[in-house]
Amino acid sequence: MQSNGAFFMMKVLFLLEGRCVEVMNDRVLVVEDEAGIARILQLELEHEGYSVGVAADGRTGYEMASTGEWQLILLDVMLPEMSGIEVLRLIRQAGNPVPIILLTARDTVPDKVSGFEHGANDYITKPFAMEELLARVRNILRIFQQYPKESEGSDVIKLGDLTIELRSRKVYRKDILIELTPREFELLVYLVENRNEEKSREDILSEVWGYDFIGETNLVDVYIRYLRQKLDKGYRHKLIHTVRGVGYMIKEPDA
Ligand code: CA
Repeated sequence: MQSNGAFFMMKVLFLLEGRCVEVMNDRVLVVEDEAGIARILQLELEHEGYSVGVAADGRTGYEMASTGEWQLILLDVMLPEMSGIEVLRLIRQAGNPVPIILLTARDTVPDKVSGFEHGANDYITKPFAMEELLARVRNILRIFQQYPKESEGSDVIKLGDLTIELRSRKVYRKDILIELTPREFELLVYLVENRNEEKSREDILSEVWGYDFIGETNLVDVYIRYLRQKLDKGYRHKLIHTVRGVGYMIKEPDA
């Protein structure tokens, strides 16, 4: 099944203070051969306001991706005609920097590893919760729109001796590479973008997890603990600070 026809540019016109403002929706390409999953992804993404195109095999996916008209690609790994990893490799080889989230089967660690090696920006394991996928999509789009590709080096955030490369999702403290999971990475980026600001657990949950986890604020504590283990352990200057009765914040070591 191939539903290229589902791709169309959606333009929304808003009347704002008497002026007509044109808003172009973000376009997301879904490359997925399982028709049921592709359909649900399309419906959910369209419901969120994205314009969606669908390709049902790797070759079509690569051809559609090459048009350069997408803000994000969701790319299944197991595809007929050309694997998702091969599609990814070709897209990057052609110098196309479009953010790509891989959809991988459970327990296929080699997929994830080679996916990152070939330039995937994130991955999500099937079966996935739709809310989580939509949160990842929002996060990646936010990061890429905030730090457009035009200005070289603008995808790097620095805070003290901490360096975050947004596109490659690499994090260093001094010169030491720190391996983070996608969620840890998103949490770190959120706190660093809001440096020196106290953030409540509720704020962090809704911004990083992307949906309401009422009563699950201990998730934040768990992930803060992971981050501290990886970022602050062994360093005299701690980046992550607990704000009693509120939540957390990241501060420059001398701030
Ligand atoms: Ca598949």
